[in-house]
Amino acid sequence: MTAQTEAADLFAFDNSYARLPARFFARLPPTRVAAPRLVRLNEKLALHLGLDPGKLATLEGVEILAGNRVPKSGEPLAMAYAGHQFGTFVPQLGDGRAILLGEIIDRDGLRRDIQLKGAGPTPFSRRGDGRAALGPVLREYIISEAMAALKIPTTRTLAAVTTGETVQRETPLPGAVLTRVASSHIRVGTFQFFAVRGDVDAIRRLADHVIARHYPEAIDAANRYRTLLDLVISRQAELIAKWLLVGFIHGVMNTDNMSISGETIDYGPCAFMDVYHPETVYSSIDKLGRYAYGNQPRIAQWNLSRLAETLAPLLAEDQDAAVKQAQEAIDAFATRFETAHAAGLNRKLGLLQPRPGDLSLAQDLLERMARNGADFTLTFRRMCDAAASPDGDAAVRGLFSDPSAFDDWAVRWRRRLAEEGGEPNARRVAMRAANPAFIPRNHLVAEAISAAVNTGDFSPFESLLTVLSTPYQEQPAFGRYADPPRPDQVVHQTFCGT
Ligand code: AMP
Ligand code: MG
Repeated sequence: MTAQTEAADLFAFDNSYARLPARFFARLPPTRVAAPRLVRLNEKLALHLGLDPGKLATLEGVEILAGNRVPKSGEPLAMAYAGHQFGTFVPQLGDGRAILLGEIIDRDGLRRDIQLKGAGPTPFSRRGDGRAALGPVLREYIISEAMAALKIPTTRTLAAVTTGETVQRETPLPGAVLTRVASSHIRVGTFQFFAVRGDVDAIRRLADHVIARHYPEAIDAANRYRTLLDLVISRQAELIAKWLLVGFIHGVMNTDNMSISGETIDYGPCAFMDVYHPETVYSSIDKLGRYAYGNQPRIAQWNLSRLAETLAPLLAEDQDAAVKQAQEAIDAFATRFETAHAAGLNRKLGLLQPRPGDLSLAQDLLERMARNGADFTLTFRRMCDAAASPDGDAAVRGLFSDPSAFDDWAVRWRRRLAEEGGEPNARRVAMRAANPAFIPRNHLVAEAISAAVNTGDFSPFESLLTVLSTPYQEQPAFGRYADPPRPDQVVHQTFCGT
């Protein structure tokens, strides 16, 4: 199948997942590609991972990033998992087009998976070809790195290479491989894979692995599996709050796309909202709006309930007691989410000392934005200036179809800001740190991908990555990247591209 050669020690892998029982994965190397070419290397991330970017960019390095060579310490494998897809349970999914090369320890001492996405067929490919097209690879690169710069937990992108091969989708498209970096690729669906098979021993092994790797604070807990569940739920609640606070819509929150470590994972038809509306959906396959912006907390809780079910046999000897434990843990999600979300909304409004009534103030603004088609990101960003001086109001109110809707609200806001005290400039600085100027707007992402895929021009892709790497800073030279789309630029739908 593939002719693998050994590469010198560019990566010093230490593979804890590969030491788990054989039924956790299928061992196989990536499938060779015809003509690998490096599109982009994330040099900063490489350095943070303790890798040599110079070596990664050599012929040999690129061969590794394309899957043509496997480093000596690599133990390539495809992970097994199941999942609820749009509410329907599929007992076997697994890495159908991704291969985990191994794990490395980064500069912070954290263990990180190095995985090739689009690395060829695996025993989990079902009818798929195991490959990825360049467009979705660039999309994941842009959005995952933007999320990291927005300080939202996420998988990262180390590199993108083209393969010199075509992948057949609706039309033939250039093929590519993305190197994904994650705290781990263990998903809610990984637990479900063993639960549906009644394999309690595997669930315990997996849970112990996850505790050691992601939640060491659970090791000495009285009920370590209950503590594990509490911690996963808490991290997910915080993650979803962070998504909502920047207008991110994941688009495919299936249980197989929810990471146990609490990182955003599996960038498909995800998108950032332009105009604020809680029912916003972009994904072409999400016909019923299951994964709409405002549904994300509810869906996360639903997914975590599925996780709790898989852990039930470990929570207590007695089934009723286990169900009670699971339910208590799940019930904590709402409070955890609401607390994180409300605190984030306060930061967005420039309120650092919480008071009763703050949430209703924020909700009133959001409702007015929804009714008046206001741009989510720009409204909050421009409010940073308005908070410092009412001279800034004109720029904000102009975003509302009826500007007086903002004026009325701003009276309430200013009264509240006055109670807060503090120096106007310091408030602007604090608000800017909570309200990005730059998000990967759909039309900009589409423009960058189209230039790269259709004309081989990667400069818009490069510029976009540059702007998005410091999203909270003013970047006057890149002013147009902060603008909402013109009516003719609006992207109405996004696609998985699988
Ligand atoms: P995703 O939509 O990327 O979350 O993938 C859902 C499932 O489909 C996972 O099991 C993937 O591995 C599998 N899959 C997606 N695209 C492909 C492909 N091109 N070839 C094989 N399997 C795929
Ligand atoms: Mg997936």
